[in-house]
Amino acid sequence: GADEVVVHETLPSRVLIGPGASDLVADEVARTGAARVLLVAAPSAAGPADRIAGALGARLAARFDRPAPHTPVAVTARAMEAAVGADCVVAVGGGSAIGLAKAVAARTGMPQVAVPTTYAGSEMTPVLGETEDGVKTTRRSPSLAPGTVVYDPRLTLGMPSGLTRTSAMNALAHAVEALWAPDATMVTDALATEAAGGILDALPEVLADPAGPAGRARLQSAAWLAGICLARTRMGLHHQLAHVLGGAFGLPHAELHTMLLAHVMAFNLPSAPAASARLARVAGPDPVAVVAALAREHRGPTRLSALGVPRERLPEMARRVAADPYPNPRPPDADAVAELLDAMW
Ligand code: NAD
Repeated sequence: GADEVVVHETLPSRVLIGPGASDLVADEVARTGAARVLLVAAPSAAGPADRIAGALGARLAARFDRPAPHTPVAVTARAMEAAVGADCVVAVGGGSAIGLAKAVAARTGMPQVAVPTTYAGSEMTPVLGETEDGVKTTRRSPSLAPGTVVYDPRLTLGMPSGLTRTSAMNALAHAVEALWAPDATMVTDALATEAAGGILDALPEVLADPAGPAGRARLQSAAWLAGICLARTRMGLHHQLAHVLGGAFGLPHAELHTMLLAHVMAFNLPSAPAASARLARVAGPDPVAVVAALAREHRGPTRLSALGVPRERLPEMARRVAADPYPNPRPPDADAVAELLDAMW
């Protein structure tokens, strides 16, 4: 019957990946037909942004160096002032820089070239989240996805260990949730399994040797696949908790993902046999223990209490989730979610 028919859509995107890929950004801009570039760069990406600016030469119209998490509209307004006269936006940095470029593209229709320096995956998605007066709104449109993405693992060699771990766990969460998503397809299953295996394999190696080029390249390519999973499937309880808690208490994106994942896996996997089997293939018989160990070794906050979340607010958070749940293999009953949150606390 029709309920057995799988639908898989693919976004048009051109991806360059490999050491030195960021040297080709100016050529990629030319390929879009653009002549005047707004360069958006995270402060952490000043070095690569300088090199890209140098390669663009007179085609650099303006540079904006202060992207902020969750794309505040006031920051976008300042970038828009800088963008006057530009016909293309290049973003170098993590999800914050890439989000700002999406916001500029949403207002101007400019083509985007994204050069990610974390594993957050925004460059693969047609989604833009923006905040105004503390309220986050999200829009989705194929035109928001960057047409060109340039992954250069050299830009990640200096990433601090804390961000490396938490950002990789953020990517792992995309793969894990894709495995139990209601709209998973053979394509997303394959990508998610490969992504999870690649992250679990490469992350310990990268943490042991943060500037090792081979490990960094493998971790970045696995995060790319995880980003495609994020773009193509509906996320469940893990992302809902990240959104509800992150929004209510202004928590750090990647650290929150790191804290949540093993708890949500323990909650969901008994109700998700196919996802469990795929994870067991890449993580061994106890995937929850593997992920929990990676989270526990983080040298930063590993509990909600350490982030300043008041314990007495947790039941309210659980009720919010249960009242309007994201699709999830195990229905998130308020009491059970409150218990999960208390364990994270
Ligand atoms: P981020 O971009 O805010 O970066 C975190 C910090 O790390 C920043 O200070 C940044 O300058 C620094 N940094 C980035 N790369 C670095 C590197 N290689 N070395 C050293 N420092 C580096 O954080 P993020 O986790 O990449 O992205 C989170 C943001 O992206 C959130 O606002 C989130 O909502 C958004 N996001 C959106 C989507 C989407 O599909 N729309 C997907 C994922 C994330």
